[in-house]
Amino acid sequence: MPECIFCKIAAGEIKADVVYEDDYVLAFKDINPQAPIHVLIIPKKHIERADDIPVEELDVLKKMFAAVPKVKEKLDVDDVRLVFNCGPKAGQTVYHMHLHILGGRVFGWPPG
Ligand code: AMP
Ligand code: ZN
Repeated sequence: MPECIFCKIAAGEIKADVVYEDDYVLAFKDINPQAPIHVLIIPKKHIERADDIPVEELDVLKKMFAAVPKVKEKLDVDDVRLVFNCGPKAGQTVYHMHLHILGGRVFGWPPG
C-alpha cells in the first residue's frame, strides 16, 4: 500500500528502531512510547485490521506471536501487555495491523 506508513517502514523507506525482523514480521520501537518498553510487531504484508484478517492470511498471527518472546528476551522485559486496537473507537490510528507490546511498568485494568 503506497501511502501506508508501516508498509514504508517494512520496506525500509522510513527508518525505525528495529528490534526483531524475519521474512514475515518486523518489530520496532513505538515512536510515542506509552511505557518504558513499547514495541510494535507488524506483518510485512499489508493487512488493515486485526479483527478482520482474511482467513487465508491467519497464519500471520502465528508469525507475529512467535516474535513476542524474541522481543521480550532482547529487551529483557518480564510481564507485558499485548494489545490490538481495532478501529477508531478502539484507538486505532494506523490502518496496517500491529501488535503493541508494552512493558516495564504496572498497567491498570480496565484500560482507558
Ligand atoms: P494505534 O493507535 O493502535 O493504531 O497505534 C499506532 C502506533 O503507531 C502509535 O502508538 C504511534 O505512536 C505509532 N507510530 C506511528 N508512526 C510511527 C513511526 N513512524 N514509527 C514508530 N511508531 C509509530
Ligand atoms: Zn501497510
